[in-house]
Amino acid sequence: MTATKYVYDFEEGNKDMKYLLGGKGANLAEMTNMGLPVPHGFTVTCEACNAFRAAGGQFPDGMLDEVGVHLVALEQKMGRGLGDPADPLLVSVRSGAPFSMPGMMDTVLNVGLNDASVEGLAKQTGSQRFAWDSYRRLLQMFGKTVMGVDGDRFEEAIDEAKHAKGVKNDLDLDEGDLHALVARFKQIIASETGRDFPQEPKEQLRLGIQAVFGSWDNKRAIDYRRKNKIADDLGTAVNVQSMVFGNKGDDSGTGVAFTRNPADGERAPYGDYLPNAQGEDVVAGIRNTMKLEEMADVQPQAWEELKGHLQALERHYRDMCDVEFTVEQGKLWMLQTRVGKRTAFAEWIMAYDMLDESLIDVDTALLRLDADRLEELFKKVVAVGTRLEAIASGLNASPGAAVGRAVFTADDAQAWAERGEDVILVRRETTPDDYHGMIRSQGILTSAGGTNSHAAVVARGEGIPAVCGADAIHVDRAERRFTVGSLTVAEGEWITIDGFTGKVYAGQLELADSPIERARSGDPEARREKIWQAYERFMARADQVRRLRVRANADTPQQSANAIERGAEGIGLCRTEHMFLGEERVAAVRTMIFASTAEEEHAAYDVLAPLQREDFVGIFREMDGKPVTVRLLDPPLHEFLPNQVDLAVAVALARQADAKEVEVSGERLPLAEAEELLDRVNDLHEANPMLGLRGLRLGIVKPGLYAMQVRAIVGAACQVKSEGGNPVVEIMIPLAATREELAQLREELEPVARQVTADRGVDLEVLWGTMIELPRAALTAGEIAEVAEFFSFGTNDLTQTTFGFSRDDIGKFLGLYEERKLVPVNPFVTIDRPGVGRLMRLACEEGRAAREHLHLGICGEHGGDPDSVRFCHEIGLDYVSCSPFRVPTARLAAGQAALGEASSASK
Ligand code: ADP
Ligand code: MG
Ligand code: MG
Repeated sequence: MTATKYVYDFEEGNKDMKYLLGGKGANLAEMTNMGLPVPHGFTVTCEACNAFRAAGGQFPDGMLDEVGVHLVALEQKMGRGLGDPADPLLVSVRSGAPFSMPGMMDTVLNVGLNDASVEGLAKQTGSQRFAWDSYRRLLQMFGKTVMGVDGDRFEEAIDEAKHAKGVKNDLDLDEGDLHALVARFKQIIASETGRDFPQEPKEQLRLGIQAVFGSWDNKRAIDYRRKNKIADDLGTAVNVQSMVFGNKGDDSGTGVAFTRNPADGERAPYGDYLPNAQGEDVVAGIRNTMKLEEMADVQPQAWEELKGHLQALERHYRDMCDVEFTVEQGKLWMLQTRVGKRTAFAEWIMAYDMLDESLIDVDTALLRLDADRLEELFKKVVAVGTRLEAIASGLNASPGAAVGRAVFTADDAQAWAERGEDVILVRRETTPDDYHGMIRSQGILTSAGGTNSHAAVVARGEGIPAVCGADAIHVDRAERRFTVGSLTVAEGEWITIDGFTGKVYAGQLELADSPIERARSGDPEARREKIWQAYERFMARADQVRRLRVRANADTPQQSANAIERGAEGIGLCRTEHMFLGEERVAAVRTMIFASTAEEEHAAYDVLAPLQREDFVGIFREMDGKPVTVRLLDPPLHEFLPNQVDLAVAVALARQADAKEVEVSGERLPLAEAEELLDRVNDLHEANPMLGLRGLRLGIVKPGLYAMQVRAIVGAACQVKSEGGNPVVEIMIPLAATREELAQLREELEPVARQVTADRGVDLEVLWGTMIELPRAALTAGEIAEVAEFFSFGTNDLTQTTFGFSRDDIGKFLGLYEERKLVPVNPFVTIDRPGVGRLMRLACEEGRAAREHLHLGICGEHGGDPDSVRFCHEIGLDYVSCSPFRVPTARLAAGQAALGEASSASK
């Protein structure tokens, strides 16, 4: 057995080895082998880290020897010995996991310096100040990250030194001051840890490696992995690299650069440069940095070289890269690179440009687009040039900027919005009871709650901008106002939120429409913008390659029009429940619910039927030639009645006050009538309405109800057809559990439909199908397919009933479940493949076995989730259906699925 190799020279690795060498190590190796100027070094593998952890903090056998061999080779290459008092080699010890992980251990620079070698460094470089500055940096970084001293202690000491001298800038401390600081730092380390700073260079190196390995299991790192779904068993590598110095004077410096602009995608290098600085000074905000391109003035040669390297990296990686670099006395060194993060907007622009530059082909470009973030392109943004101080900031929970008047309850949001006001609903945290107000708000702001809170989930689902967990805000619901520090924002005052950045502003900021929205509404100028060209180009390609059809969930002609505009090819779910709301209908619905005789009940249907028919006429006209799946009434009837508790309270109060009338949902009723209403409401009360009298159970208990709906649907279709239109009608019966339920209803309803077409003399074919949303339906799909021409997976209910999780109550535990990995994904966002997905797969297989041309689709919000779309592609559904504004997302995801990869997998 050959011993495991734990250490790789940069010359031995490449970019594809990130699981072994970590991202930083793999890319340092890649750059080395590309011939870019990378300071020599080697990488201790993630595997060594895992062995170290498994052994309870012991280096694996042979690892230190291997480090020793590579160190000697490094010393030979550099012509110096680590910490040699005469002419020391110094190294950095850098952590580097397979995925970028801020919150891990920081890097330790200048390892190898000690009381003796600091003098050697001074002599070799001719600068006492430089040598002592480097030494104090080592003490500070080593003290903090390896020995665990609170970093503030060092910062305080620096501040004291500057204060004593009356200067503000680190650069104003001279060699004497730094000499004193070094002594002070050593003292701090000794008194805080009870140990002296180790003078022996190899000991420093060993402890450095050990600390990086150990940092994999520190709390910050663990929390970060949880949050970002990074596996705990990857481990981190350690890179040991010879130091180069950006702090040697004005002809030196350090910087970060992107090969293109990560914010807007513009095709030009972008970044910051800081002269006479080392390491992270450039991002730490210690001094004002220069714009990258200003290097042209101070470091013309290094700048030209850097531009060449950036271009080489892009050509090599065929993607935008970011880099860290240092200039030492005019000589450029590359210290890090990786494929860089970017905004959704920049991602599309870059993909488009790189295709144009023949850097990538169209399918590579398409796969690079993150379908999950597509909707960001449609959102309003805070107009450039309107710079205002934010009053608070929270999590960027749902993208887009929004302006509105602050309101503090969902009812107020609804009432103000109905008056035509733009509102932002401000709550500590929202609950399902707030839904009606949330969907009428321009934006949502909460002071508690994370990115998976109710507010965040609903906002994203509905495409409403949201900032959540802005904890500096104190919401006072009773007084209808919020305070931030000394500022008070009262109801009706304007605020602006930016769901891209998480910032909250007082007042009305100017917003700009996204160019894509402007282009879509025909603005010729917007149509010339590159983002629109990119959008058209890639969506066309996605449409060309996808196999899944994409439909929308739409209940009104307006929503249908929106859906078509976004590329929907039909309606996969037209809910009929909203057609039961509205003033003129409520009375009839109530009569229907409470009818004690068949006559009463039918009188109510006679009122409702023509109204329903009109609704469908509008939709069929809009969707001409495209399939429309209409779902017969699904929710429990009590949803059309006043809230039980509110009504009981109102009645009790009226009795107590001897009032003759009671106010019920804005309506004044005589007390006796209200009491009767309450009795009926009590009769209809269900312990668990989700599993109660709803779906086709209503159709069975109230036979006239579905017949009325079928008459309205088919009647409308006949009317549109007589007008010369082409309605494509699918009637969907919800919540089937058994074949018999469906068989019986079809037996009752099909003659109704036939009667209408015969009466009207119209030739119309209707498809009859059901939703698969109960486990039993999925498990007996073969039987059910005998009486259904299509299935539509109602994955919201199927998820609830498979997990036994009530969707309205998950707020109490699902966050914790996700955090503790008790569920693999949030199953209400992404289809749970092993459970819910398995039922779906089974239902597809057995359904198709029983009926070869069974038409299969999904409605429910999963239809707009890219991962779920991919799953639907895999199990061979015919279409997905989602809310109109998610249609482009689903089209893109379906195209990517057809190309055989998900965008998320490539990230
Ligand atoms: P992070 O993962 O936090 O970016 P790095 O390992 O990249 O940490 O180190 C941070 C910074 O330290 C780098 O950007 C670079 O400026 C500096 N640095 C690291 N290694 C060296 C080196 N060998 N020579 C000079 N500077 C270095
Ligand atoms: Mg770095
Ligand atoms: Mg359902």
